[in-house]
Amino acid sequence: MDGISPQLAAPWFLGAGFSALVAGVAYRARTLTFSGAVAAWGVGWLTFGSGTWLAALTVLAFFTSSSVLSRWGSRRKVRAAREYAKSARRDGAQVLANGSVATLAALLVWLCASEVAFAQGAGLAFAAALAAATADTWATEVGSAHPRPRHILTGRPVPPGTSGAVSSWGTLAALGGSIWLAGLFVVGLYALPLEPGWMGLRHVPVRQILLSVGVGGVGGSLMDSLLGATLQRVYMCPTCGVETERTRHHCGTLTRPLRGVRWVSNDVVNFLGTLSGSIIAVLLQMAVLGK
Ligand SMILES: [Zn+2]
Repeated sequence: MDGISPQLAAPWFLGAGFSALVAGVAYRARTLTFSGAVAAWGVGWLTFGSGTWLAALTVLAFFTSSSVLSRWGSRRKVRAAREYAKSARRDGAQVLANGSVATLAALLVWLCASEVAFAQGAGLAFAAALAAATADTWATEVGSAHPRPRHILTGRPVPPGTSGAVSSWGTLAALGGSIWLAGLFVVGLYALPLEPGWMGLRHVPVRQILLSVGVGGVGGSLMDSLLGATLQRVYMCPTCGVETERTRHHCGTLTRPLRGVRWVSNDVVNFLGTLSGSIIAVLLQMAVLGK
């Protein structure tokens, strides 16, 4: 560590402690499983080291709002959740599905701080990945309360909680989650002390940041629904005759593949949703708004 100054190393030490605290609290509150807490610690550490308080504010804007909404919906969703592969308590794969694109983008801002245009794009990709994760989580939690959701492609009514189901409530919640994330990111951008790589975003007009992050978030959650309706693996229980994400149904029967690609789980769909959100934001910044 001879070549690294104390000022440069400080965020990484602080990030290790700070994210251990948050992950520990979430584990105790039963929001995260043990593997979820370990993954959240890693994601939090790398993100805080790369972007300090702005990155922490943005990650917490996603994490706290999603945890509150999951808790609000947990009793009502008990029935629908029986067909999900996983419980409301997030595990390591779920944390990485939602957080790895944002973490990688934050690392790129830090590593390429002197390449201003590149760092700006990576900073927008960071916020848009989290906007997509927030929009998707809000849409899932609020949308599954809608009594009659419809399939995103066929428009036919489907049971609440089905992959690829959309409703007016869910769509409005996706918009709300995306605006919430983009808004807090902009507030943090001007109110908090920044690491060098992130300073470049202050030269991007605020309306441009709000638009590219906001559209990236909504677009990413839309892509999530599309992939959930098409590529995501869905099984059928031959005994109960219902669609499920589980390989073994809660009645004890082994389920049969119904449609989708074998390795495309809900976690893969979430990962691709956040990646799409980042790509949309960067393309929008480059092609439409960057002129
Ligand atoms: Zn069954």
